[in-house]
Amino acid sequence: MQSRTTIDNGTIHTLCRQCAHHCGIYAHIQDGRITKISGNKTHPENLGMVCSKGREAPDWVYHPERLTGCRKRTPSGDFKTIEYERALDEISEKIVNIRDHFGARAMSAWTGEAIGFLQQEAYAQRFINAFGSPNFFTADSVCFASRLMAYVTCQGYWSYPPDFENAQMIILWGANPAYSHPPFMQAINRSRRKGGKLVVVDRKARMGRNPQTGEPIHIPAKKALKFRIAKAAKDAVMG
Ligand code: SF4
Repeated sequence: MQSRTTIDNGTIHTLCRQCAHHCGIYAHIQDGRITKISGNKTHPENLGMVCSKGREAPDWVYHPERLTGCRKRTPSGDFKTIEYERALDEISEKIVNIRDHFGARAMSAWTGEAIGFLQQEAYAQRFINAFGSPNFFTADSVCFASRLMAYVTCQGYWSYPPDFENAQMIILWGANPAYSHPPFMQAINRSRRKGGKLVVVDRKARMGRNPQTGEPIHIPAKKALKFRIAKAAKDAVMG
């Protein structure tokens, strides 16, 4: 399949759609092909930064091994290419069969976070609801939902993202925004430049490390740290 851009040469101001940050980017185009992605310094979300996923976005269009059709698993575990029409017929026959024998609630839909994921989630949710099932799950079910519940339970409302830039202390616990949420890391670094403290508790490393003091936080101490934080929060609220 040949993909051509809407202009032959030049630069298109656009947004990266690979995660919820929607960073401002420029797509540089030469002879109808995207040759490079760079960051838009005037965009308030990313201020010119583009993460590795954004930089490699042309692979979505040009990578020789990307999927461009339907694949069906064979009994031997391999995959073979089948036509879209046939795939749709086979899938619809199976899900109608499930509904007829076990009821619509026996079906659920799950979506991951692919490109343009918010729209995909909406389509998948609409589909499964129209099918007659309330069972809809996404990557959010194991990530966003627990975060939302924690915010609502602790402070009574949802306020995300936190005001990283003006925080006096930030604890990164099992999170790596330098890779997963680069615009958040930019805001965290702005806080540090203003004197904010950053504590990192890193599950993968043998120990976490406070990057400002270099002080290690050993894994056996993490439970104690959790209890101390919980107690400090309780004392702050209840006195
Ligand atoms: S953080 Fe990276 S993947 Fe997400 S929108 Fe920005 S450049 Fe794209």
